[in-house]
Amino acid sequence: MSTETKKTELIRGGQFVVKETKAEDIFTPEDFNEEQEMMKGSVKEWIDREVWPKKEEFEKKNYALTEEMMEKAGELGFLGVSVPEEYGGLGMGFVSTMLVCDYISGATGSIATAFGAHTGIGTMPITLYGTEEQKKKYVPKLATGEVFGAYCLTEPGAGSDANSGKTKAVLSEDGKYYSITGQKMWISNAGFASTFIVFARIEDDKYITGFIVEYDKENPNGISMGEEEKKLGIHSSSTRQVFFNETKVPAENLLAERGDGFKIAMNVLNIGRIKLAGACLDAQRRVIDGSVKYANERVQFNTAIAKFGAIKLKLAEMATAAYAGESAVYRAAKNIEDRIALRIEEGNSHAEAELKSVEEYAIECSILKVACSEDIQHCSDEGIQIFGGMGFSADAPMESAWRDARIPRIYEGTNEINRMLAVGMLVKKAMKGHVDLLGPATAVGQELTGIPSMDKPDYSELFAEEKEILQNMKKIFLMVAGSAVQKFGAELEEHQQLLLASADILIEIYMAESAILRTEKNANRLGKETQKEQIAMSQLYLYNAVDKITQKAKEGVVSFAEGDEQRMMLMGLKRFTKYQNQPNVVALRNTIAEKLTSENKYCF
Ligand SMILES: Cc1cc2nc3c(=O)[nH]c(=O)nc-3n(C[C@H](O)[C@H](O)[C@H](O)COP(=O)(O)OP(=O)(O)OC[C@H]3O[C@@H](n4cnc5c(N)ncnc54)[C@H](O)[C@@H]3O)c2cc1C
Repeated sequence: MSTETKKTELIRGGQFVVKETKAEDIFTPEDFNEEQEMMKGSVKEWIDREVWPKKEEFEKKNYALTEEMMEKAGELGFLGVSVPEEYGGLGMGFVSTMLVCDYISGATGSIATAFGAHTGIGTMPITLYGTEEQKKKYVPKLATGEVFGAYCLTEPGAGSDANSGKTKAVLSEDGKYYSITGQKMWISNAGFASTFIVFARIEDDKYITGFIVEYDKENPNGISMGEEEKKLGIHSSSTRQVFFNETKVPAENLLAERGDGFKIAMNVLNIGRIKLAGACLDAQRRVIDGSVKYANERVQFNTAIAKFGAIKLKLAEMATAAYAGESAVYRAAKNIEDRIALRIEEGNSHAEAELKSVEEYAIECSILKVACSEDIQHCSDEGIQIFGGMGFSADAPMESAWRDARIPRIYEGTNEINRMLAVGMLVKKAMKGHVDLLGPATAVGQELTGIPSMDKPDYSELFAEEKEILQNMKKIFLMVAGSAVQKFGAELEEHQQLLLASADILIEIYMAESAILRTEKNANRLGKETQKEQIAMSQLYLYNAVDKITQKAKEGVVSFAEGDEQRMMLMGLKRFTKYQNQPNVVALRNTIAEKLTSENKYCF
């Protein structure tokens, strides 16, 4: 097959909202190859053996333990999975990288954060933007954990508005070095890192510039640290302020070009976002595991609480969200991996290919970051509830899981910023002609004014009705977001609540579709009877998604449409969210929960 053919077959980022994807065209966790299974197995085995038993110790602000575990992760090769072999890494594909990130992150948020900060934002700016000399000098040591990395972007006055930092970089008269002065805050790994990626402004440049800055405790070169921050969670993750006072940095340590810093920061964050989504998955599996076991053991009213409908509801919803998250993360990860391979075939360097491919799916990266970070939060909250009073105790694992789950909604771009980005990027793609939103949106407009079909649909095939509803949910997005773009044009970005509502619709579509397509693919190859609970989870996810979308779409429509236009859209909304056969969600939840409790673990 020619590169051209493959290129047209590969779905573009954001296109899922206007295109029908076939089940056989998505990658699922059941498609992991031998190498990927091996990677998953070895990371999981190490975490179970070395990290999970020390969970309590991680709550005691034992930063040295995090450093020690990171060193071990380095010795085992886990820090270099995504680093090309020529720079001392394992050079594995994007899916394997995601697997490591997923399974290394479940036991404690402290390791998840240290690992993410080091391998993602600490290392990738160099592997992706560094010169050959910079890569040779820094990356092999980062890949093995001989040195650790940190990323200094945030400042007291520059958080979400990352390009507004005040840190300055002044070039020396002889042009040999920059002198960096400024204050960075919330810097993960600061307490034990010695390679910092620092963003600073040269003169009055519009955009900041990235630098590689070495830190040696014995010879601090103007670098000093604040105390460890006192945080709600991730207690053994080092987070400090870092101060630079005329820190001298060789001119050759400038990353990419002057003024490229904002671009570097944003592109590296795109990768960070999908990895953070992956990092929320195993935490969910472990919380569900613990909750199921506890519910089976805990007896009240002479009955194991797992037998109560109220507990079944919780377990089923927790597992459903985890299943959908896993389906969506690996679907997107494989899209990225395939596009990287295609770009390399076309002559791109690995770094260029990775950057461009992740940028292509930046919408999905934002969607996943928001969805999975909120799922782990909800999951751990319900975990506490299932444990009852014990859930509130620091002696049980739910309390720390809940506190650790709070941070993913804030870093790597807050969920508000990521929601608005997801819709904003999609609109931009449409304007550039990369995703045709206008054609489908016009068709939806015509459908709204037309007479609904009275044909009796044939729903005998698995998911026939669900897939029709999915198509209708896409129509709802096009109706709401399409009309909003027409109404407000470039001023849409000022209508934040409308953007947030549209983002929620987009998120629910991607997550529901990923769960359904994964299950359909597995039912086709393994038999429908093997997928009973997965079918139930897919149907339950969709049912919940329809409810959320109805609420968000209504909120959007009434915010900008009035009179006949509003009535027409609300009628459309009713039509597009209508089930011919309402699923019995109570029965679906019972099916899922009973499987979990009979297996006494998260088993999907
Ligand atoms: C534990 C931890 C580790 C971290 N690690 C690192 C690290 O290693 N390196 C690093 O550089 N940074 C790091 N950060 C910083 C993190 O990325 C920022 O906290 C985050 O980007 C938000 O910035 P902020 O805290 O200044 O919040 P703000 O930007 O002040 O946001 C406050 C609130 O306002 C909202 N908001 C802001 N702007 C808008 C807008 N335009 N429209 C609507 N709502 C808006 C936000 O969504 C949020 O709800 C870390 C933070 C924490 C807590």
